[in-house]
Amino acid sequence: MLLERAYAKVNLTLDVLHRRPDGYHEVDMVMQSIDLSDLVWLERHPEDRIVLESNATYVPTDDRNLAVQAAKLFLRRTEISAGVHINLEKNIPVAAGLAGGSSDAAATLRGMNRLFGTGLSFDELAEMGAEIGSDVPFCVYGGTAIARGRGEQLTRVEHRCHMYVLLIHPRVFVSTADIYKGLRPGDFTVRPTSEQMVTALVNDDVDVISRLVSNKLQPVTFGIYPEVMQLSEKVEAVTRHPVHMSGSGPTLFLLAPTIQQANRMYNALRGIMRDVYFSQFVGNVSSLTSLQPKSE
Ligand code: ATP
Repeated sequence: MLLERAYAKVNLTLDVLHRRPDGYHEVDMVMQSIDLSDLVWLERHPEDRIVLESNATYVPTDDRNLAVQAAKLFLRRTEISAGVHINLEKNIPVAAGLAGGSSDAAATLRGMNRLFGTGLSFDELAEMGAEIGSDVPFCVYGGTAIARGRGEQLTRVEHRCHMYVLLIHPRVFVSTADIYKGLRPGDFTVRPTSEQMVTALVNDDVDVISRLVSNKLQPVTFGIYPEVMQLSEKVEAVTRHPVHMSGSGPTLFLLAPTIQQANRMYNALRGIMRDVYFSQFVGNVSSLTSLQPKSE
């Protein structure tokens, strides 16, 4: 049996440039992997079928599960006829803007490649993953990247900036499609901030990073789900720290450069709300690097 970790991501920036004729929106965003992860265990199944089991009762275990879709696509593309058993341990909140499902699909592609010794490159796996979802290619590599197009065109970024990330998951189910539908032409960005964000990451300039974190979908999500906005205001009042939203939400997050600051905020929040997660930036999957924490 082999294990692949499926890391969650947060959006450090998310700009939407326009709506494309194919219905997708053209985005420009900086994605960052964090160490909150699902565990994907893979082994051969004696029959030629894909079987998925999960500790989570609220994700589908059939063909709707993105890990099952990834396993099937992999077998089809490599022309391997075999069965696989997937055990999926969910730790990433579902439909939360953290790319949990996409990351499970990406981890399954990496794991299948190991299980069958097929030796495909990460680029080949990412190309396969794009058929499953726009965020899957990023999740194949992890780390940090600028994602453009519908999210599948990646410019990978190397940096040594380490940050702690506190996540607050409001117990609200958000449909990504509804949030994009709620965008008005005036919400579109002319000049995205991704290049500036990357410079700040490379320079390890925490103040500039904090100032640049932005998400064009946040006002839309807050408008449709006022309870998420209220929670954000509460978190900001308690921590006296800027609160951000990842993807289409509803997960909120705070960034802290030191463990002391992260601990202070975590303790303040844990006393008054549920579903607070303590996480941190991680580097790309192939080198499995943990970015170096700083002391205060
Ligand atoms: P993104 O940030 O890419 O928009 P998300 O974090 O908002 O993704 P997911 O957790 O990936 O959303 O779940 C979105 C939907 O996908 C849910 O409705 C869920 O039922 C379905 N789904 C399919 N496979 C999975 C999986 N392996 N894990 C979680 N959800 C899955």
